[in-house]
Amino acid sequence: NRRLRLASRPHGEPAPTDFVHDEVPVPSPGPGQVLLRTLHLSLDPYVRGRMSAAKSYAAPMELGDVIVGGTVSEVVESTVEDLSPGDVVLGYGGWQEYSVEDAAGLRRLDPAVAPVSTALGVLGMPGFTAYAGLLAIGRPAPGETVAVAAATGPVGSAVAQIAQLRGARAIGIAGGERKVAHLRELGVDAALDHRAPDLPGRLADAAPDGIDVYFENVGGAVWDAVLPQLNEFARVPVCGLAASYNATALPEGPDRSGQLMGAVLTRSLTLRGFIQREFVPTMFEDFLRDMGGWVASGQVRYTEDVTEGLDRAPEAFVGMLRGDNLGKTLVRVA
Ligand code: NDP
Repeated sequence: NRRLRLASRPHGEPAPTDFVHDEVPVPSPGPGQVLLRTLHLSLDPYVRGRMSAAKSYAAPMELGDVIVGGTVSEVVESTVEDLSPGDVVLGYGGWQEYSVEDAAGLRRLDPAVAPVSTALGVLGMPGFTAYAGLLAIGRPAPGETVAVAAATGPVGSAVAQIAQLRGARAIGIAGGERKVAHLRELGVDAALDHRAPDLPGRLADAAPDGIDVYFENVGGAVWDAVLPQLNEFARVPVCGLAASYNATALPEGPDRSGQLMGAVLTRSLTLRGFIQREFVPTMFEDFLRDMGGWVASGQVRYTEDVTEGLDRAPEAFVGMLRGDNLGKTLVRVA
């Protein structure tokens, strides 16, 4: 069983030496457990947080732990009745070829419904994050303007498309021309490159009636450009701050938190952070029904960025944090 474990806590961008490769015998399942062979591994931004020692909503990994991650796997050996060798399941096997997991925590996937890898993206946690954050917190009304950054990623692209299905105008913000071209293909109402000059000016032009919902995935300079455009009563689901995940210091410049609080007060803004699992009990079934229908009908489209081979997971992970990925970042392990 080849594995990748946490060797040291990264300072800034993770380095190859923060990961250690090893190989151990394939484990055996105990009662109520199954042995799984990883097919697809999900690379997600939150894993950067768990590599650090800082306290967050999930406990940090310990040095030596197998790097965590969602996986789509094939059952190799089973001790339970309702899972048999060959079944494909969604689990949490992490960065390794084989894992032993409790059968109770697994969701069986039907390859006839959708490609099984989508359970890690558009029909899984990232798609659900978009659905729940946008609909429960953003609550876009028809005709309103919704803006989202990291707009070609699995969360952002679902946000933009669901917003349009709800009759809103969608502004997608992403890094680089390739991503802007992809957003145009998806049919967003405006597509902006945050790396090109004068984002504030271009955003103001793209949102002549202001912004009613800003789905916050990145923070940083994009947030600075969005804040002046937010309308009275605008809603900001605060989902992620990808621009600062590798940061080692506070940004340069004056402290603007007073200005931010002034805007929140005078424009009656709602900034509401969330972790998707909050909404699982109340919204996950609706999500599977709605998103399953939209993906099947082509109303929501998705892209996957697949790297071949577990050994290349670290470089794919670091690349994703930098924005090299187009769509959901996956590693094909077997
Ligand atoms: P993505 O595939 O979108 O990858 C992250 C993206 O962040 C990069 O591709 C890049 O896109 C963008 N980015 C990185 N640095 C910057 C920067 N300095 N300025 C602007 N954009 C930057 O990831 P996901 O779709 O999986 O996740 C999107 C966000 O949602 C993340 O912040 C993640 O942590 C968060 N999240 C939160 C959850 C929750 O429960 N709250 C659950 C799941 C995800 P680009 O090249 O376009 O700039």
